[in-house]
Amino acid sequence: MPEPNISSPYYQALNQALAQRGVSVSDVCPDDDAVARRVLHDYGAMFVGAQNILPPPACIFTSEDQVSQFQEAAGRAPATIGDAVIELQPAAMRALLRARATALAEGLDITPRDGAEAARRDYADTVRLWNSRFLPALDHWKNVGRQSESQVDRLRALPINEQVREVLELEKEGIFFSKDLSKSVLYSIAAPGTSQHIAMLAFDANEFLDSRVREILATEGWFQTVLSDLPHFTFLGLAEGELPERGLKSVDVNGQKFWIPDVE
Ligand SMILES: [Zn+2]
Repeated sequence: MPEPNISSPYYQALNQALAQRGVSVSDVCPDDDAVARRVLHDYGAMFVGAQNILPPPACIFTSEDQVSQFQEAAGRAPATIGDAVIELQPAAMRALLRARATALAEGLDITPRDGAEAARRDYADTVRLWNSRFLPALDHWKNVGRQSESQVDRLRALPINEQVREVLELEKEGIFFSKDLSKSVLYSIAAPGTSQHIAMLAFDANEFLDSRVREILATEGWFQTVLSDLPHFTFLGLAEGELPERGLKSVDVNGQKFWIPDVE
């Protein structure tokens, strides 16, 4: 991985945002932890959001206790949409419900993809998702002879944070762990303990292909910030015009606009 450019727009904005909360980048995301840095660059938009949201205390949560303490502190606001009860941070939920009301008034809708999992997740949810990619991919690479029985057994027995580290190393050699085995697992799911859903600042919408729905969400501070995760929106609580000064840059993918950390 290339060294992060600490004078890049994102790092400048991040330093400023964290300083206002009395912490530094290395408190949240240790410099020597390559996985944490990767997570920061992939999901870090939420750390430079508005003052009325609470970003996570760490790039990677390591236990259910740590997650529930954070979620308690941030506040869990519930809402029922269709059959699903979803939870988000209060400011994120208010903005989502405003966006949905606007959509409904125009004959559109904004609904959760895959039920409750569309919004808040706990630590165990992220572990289960990890295993749903990690375990079948391991079997595949063993079956095609790219990993031996003993290599596979060793990987399975590792603590989960070390599994992530080793998977990212294997992916450098083309041994991929995404669902279709063609790209990094991190394009497919978040590493355990790292999701913006744990932060209660993410919502997966069924209607992500509708450009008007995306526009309505953006007006309420909800943006696509994770490349390749098309249904996934992140609550930043900011106007689109403010995003460049927060160190985010826009990237167009298949006609959809993503705002991602500018670390170059
Ligand atoms: Zn998502």
